[in-house]
Amino acid sequence: MMRPNFIFLTIFPKIFHDFFRISIIKKAYEKKLFNYSVFNIRDFSIKGIVDDSPYGGGKGMLIKIDSLIKTISVVNESFPFSYFILLSPQGERFTQKDVMFLLEKPNLVFICGRYEGFDERINYYIDKKISIGDFVTMGGEMPSLVIVETLIRAIPGVIKKESFFQESFTDFSFDFPNYTRPSSFDGISVPSILLSGNHRKIKN
Ligand code: SAH
Repeated sequence: MMRPNFIFLTIFPKIFHDFFRISIIKKAYEKKLFNYSVFNIRDFSIKGIVDDSPYGGGKGMLIKIDSLIKTISVVNESFPFSYFILLSPQGERFTQKDVMFLLEKPNLVFICGRYEGFDERINYYIDKKISIGDFVTMGGEMPSLVIVETLIRAIPGVIKKESFFQESFTDFSFDFPNYTRPSSFDGISVPSILLSGNHRKIKN
């Protein structure tokens, strides 16, 4: 696996900055296990205008196609062989099974919508449309970070191998129930087998 590179196209770049500076994700970034960059679509717009009302009426605003495509071409120049993902509730549902396929792409680009979404012509410029579930968020920023956080967990060296493979969805079952101290809380006890020290029985 090459070092994954996550690229975000957004009109709200601020959202991304804290995310990569916290906890295990921060450590993984400092260890150079992945890279990321954020492009502000507004920087590639004419007079700073990134949205416009839809033809034929209808509520809300759409992200304009011109500044978006300009941003995409700049990304393509800086990062050849980029794979362009459009965040959309109408996309294919993201699941744990997609993790390795996405991690193998050298440059993963996440195009984050806002308002009512995109000018439909964006479809000619992307590789895949992904949804994180059957609900609608305000923008593609949180959905893209849900996907990227899932991908980062799967990069070798980020979390322990055993932790990753024992997890829900990875081995086609759920994770087992876990407990930590104290052994009794508010009258609710940890299953006694876990305190027994019998490793074979615990594993069962
Ligand atoms: N009018 C659109 C929704 C726009 S929501 C529709 O009905 O399909 C604004 C933006 O948020 C979208 O363009 C998309 O980038 C993002 N978004 C909202 N819900 C999402 C989801 N479930 N998965 C991925 N992206 C989502």
